[in-house]
Amino acid sequence: MSQHMEPMPHAGITRLKTYVPGKPVEDLKRELGLASIIKLASNENPLGTSPAAEDALAHFDGALYRYPDGAGYEIKSALAERHGVATGQLTLGNGSDDVLELTARVFLGPGRNAVVSQHAFAVYPIVSQAVGATVREVPALGPAADMPYGHDLEAMLGAVNEETAVIFMASPNNPTGTWIDNATLAGFLDRVPSNVVVVLDQAYIEYQSVAEHPPVTEWLARYSNLIVTRTFSKIYGMAALRFGYGLSSPRIADFLNRVRAPFNVNTLAMHCAKAALADTAFIERSVASNTAERASLARELEARGFACLPSQANFVTFDTGRDAQEVFDALLREGMIVRPLASYDLAQHLRVTVGSSAESQAFLSALDTVMSQ
Ligand SMILES: *Cc1c(COP(=O)(O)O)cnc(C)c1O
Repeated sequence: MSQHMEPMPHAGITRLKTYVPGKPVEDLKRELGLASIIKLASNENPLGTSPAAEDALAHFDGALYRYPDGAGYEIKSALAERHGVATGQLTLGNGSDDVLELTARVFLGPGRNAVVSQHAFAVYPIVSQAVGATVREVPALGPAADMPYGHDLEAMLGAVNEETAVIFMASPNNPTGTWIDNATLAGFLDRVPSNVVVVLDQAYIEYQSVAEHPPVTEWLARYSNLIVTRTFSKIYGMAALRFGYGLSSPRIADFLNRVRAPFNVNTLAMHCAKAALADTAFIERSVASNTAERASLARELEARGFACLPSQANFVTFDTGRDAQEVFDALLREGMIVRPLASYDLAQHLRVTVGSSAESQAFLSALDTVMSQ
């Protein structure tokens, strides 16, 4: 064996950068010696978890020594009923990131490409490059557009070529909060070549309060190349348990399920998701709180002269007017964790999760302190 050779991953992996998640609260407490910390960095629900899901967890009397139901019979039945689709149209994921990854593994690979927008969710390029595909990143709409920094669907359509197999998009998008109205989306889906998969990531759809939500069930019947992804990490408050799913044609679901790890979703996640799904009161409370707090947070930021991106998600992204990393670092020292966006090509912006009204107050006062330094 030769002495100086190292195992080498394929080229897609060497070009990847490790995803940097928001800092855990405990790490920061330790590092900065702070007693209290507010984390508004990962778009978690400030109301916590659906009480029905917590109750289901507390009273779980199943057998932990048994493998999970790999077919997810019960939760799939509940989801199919909720969406008015067949259970064969569902793919369960260990978080919806898992479904994004399954999509890449099925449809992408060397010689194929994925089309994504600038300022789109970081997981799309990661899962694409990880399977050896290339990524065609399309410039987003400019700051002066009606939907500043939003996806430019015309340009994305223009970027589709012979090798394009998947288009990833989110509405509302993370980290911009921007969204796409139904007519625009349908017009886009009408024109995408039918052999190109369109992933419509709806991680934040429950929070969208303007305009009607896309008629997903109807669109799935009309567009056999559509995959819609949903998560229980955001409004359902179950980020730690990891549960998400994809909706698609039965044909696509069959492909995704072929590559899925047989027990990718754990028993507790499915058990709690079923309870959370039925807890519509918690979702209504979460939406009401978010809609009110999002508007007041944006208003307060604008009043301080910070331009906010229009958001239909559970966060507000705003222009600090300077290198946002410095503002981020100074906020950290005040015990406030938000999200810097330099890796998203938004070096002057910060993303702040819409918290409770007390958390927003604390954030604004920390920001005032930092800005006056
Ligand atoms: C948070 C998020 C997800 C999902 O995360 P999971 O926890 O894996 O379900 C997916 N897409 C976007 C745009 C997100 O912000």
